[in-house]
Amino acid sequence: MTQYLLAIDQGTSSSRAVVFDSTAAVVASAQQEFPQEYPQPGWVEHDPEEIWGSVLSVTKKALQESGASLDQIAAIGITNQRETTLVWHRDTGECVHRAIVWQDRRTAPYCRKLKDKGAEETVIAKTGLRLDPYFSATKLAWILDEVPNARQMATDGKLAFGTVDAFLLWRLTGGLVHATDATNASRTMLFNIHTQDWDDELLELFDIPESMLPQVKDSAAEYGLTDASVLGAAIPVCGVAGDQQAALIGQAGFETGMTKSTYGTGCFVIANTGETALQSRNKLLTTVAYRLNGKVTYGIEGSIFVAGSAIQWLRDQIKIIDSAEVSAAIAEASGIVENVHVVPAFAGLGAPYWDPDARGAILGLSRDSGISEIVTATLQAVAYQTKDLINAMADDGIQPSIIRVDGGMVANDWFLQFLSDILNLTVERPKNVESTVLGAAYLAGLTSGIFASTEALQNLWRRDALFEPDMKDTQRDRLYKGWLDAVARVKT
Ligand code: ADP
Repeated sequence: MTQYLLAIDQGTSSSRAVVFDSTAAVVASAQQEFPQEYPQPGWVEHDPEEIWGSVLSVTKKALQESGASLDQIAAIGITNQRETTLVWHRDTGECVHRAIVWQDRRTAPYCRKLKDKGAEETVIAKTGLRLDPYFSATKLAWILDEVPNARQMATDGKLAFGTVDAFLLWRLTGGLVHATDATNASRTMLFNIHTQDWDDELLELFDIPESMLPQVKDSAAEYGLTDASVLGAAIPVCGVAGDQQAALIGQAGFETGMTKSTYGTGCFVIANTGETALQSRNKLLTTVAYRLNGKVTYGIEGSIFVAGSAIQWLRDQIKIIDSAEVSAAIAEASGIVENVHVVPAFAGLGAPYWDPDARGAILGLSRDSGISEIVTATLQAVAYQTKDLINAMADDGIQPSIIRVDGGMVANDWFLQFLSDILNLTVERPKNVESTVLGAAYLAGLTSGIFASTEALQNLWRRDALFEPDMKDTQRDRLYKGWLDAVARVKT
């Protein structure tokens, strides 16, 4: 009997489900967007029933389109938007509040208060994260403080906390399983990434009752069977990982130094650092890349707030291009731009600058600068920012070997060649650029025996294109210095 894997990707703006065959080829897929709620400036919420409803609907659709019968689905893998926080009643599965999304900044004052008390050093040492509203702990504390009676119910063991993976797992298993994986746990700010356990001192700091927390399992593990009433059969859930980690897995980034960079709206870079949890000097995050057979592999992570969205800005705001795609042809025709720099610091500067008040600028214009210079310089800016992150990683002790890229922007060959030139590294684009959902399928396939090992997954990974550095050191140095000068001009 032919066997298939079902991967669920519950993202920030949409839910997807993909059915893969045993060679990791896509058989069928479905995707559905769901509403974002902005109840106040800086607040972002999701309706848990919209999350669940969209997941159910895409899952059923993908299964149906695949033509596979339910007993041919060997296992399910889940990947998800990370850090987003849910709390639900153990008896009914109903949430006590809408999901507080990772982008939500409502707990900034609370984080500041804890920082003033000197708590950040402990948080960094134990979790590898910064004391920031981004992560789950202060969002969870907010729900316990603000929802009437929540703290009492939590103390009485009546409430469960989870990131989106745990919530989906609970619903899929009909409330039988309350678990998460080590990658998702590592983003809560309650999990000690060195001991691989929920941390008493952190639970006390954020005032969280331990009884609310899910069990933490390997990323590839037997999580439990779906309740037959949900999808029509009992199917084992066998893999879970947060979206960026799943992308690293989908890129088969299993060796120390292997790095994946996802270019969507923003850009997320994770380098595999092996058994070593590097402590960053450059405000990068230390994270669990994956945990397999009880063995933790760590990663170091940095993000760029504005990547593909800078191209959208060219298209929608200043309206100098009709589509994102034409940016490649424009850059091809213009060639590398030496003197014009676009600094897309629309939402401040992230790692390694961490300047939330900086704003964007176009520098170095002369009488002959035009649309093509600005478009090309914008593509170059995304590459320079990647170099900023890679340099920070190198300074922290991990020199990336190969960069594997994915996300919407990597359709742009000109951008990838420039990226390779400016990084002075090999850049590889896979055949399947949907690395996140593929990573979830890989994990499910490892547990269920469809894939024998991570080595087998490395053999499955297929390259679409390879970009090798082909730029003189002098030009690379000159260009990058120009970028650093431009950044210095926008810093506050
Ligand atoms: P997300 O998952 O964050 O929604 P995607 O991975 O779908 O993002 O990528 C979409 C982004 O990629 C958009 O911001 C778009 O501007 C950018 N993009 C798409 N095609 C190109 C291209 N050929 N060149 C440059 N940028 C592109």
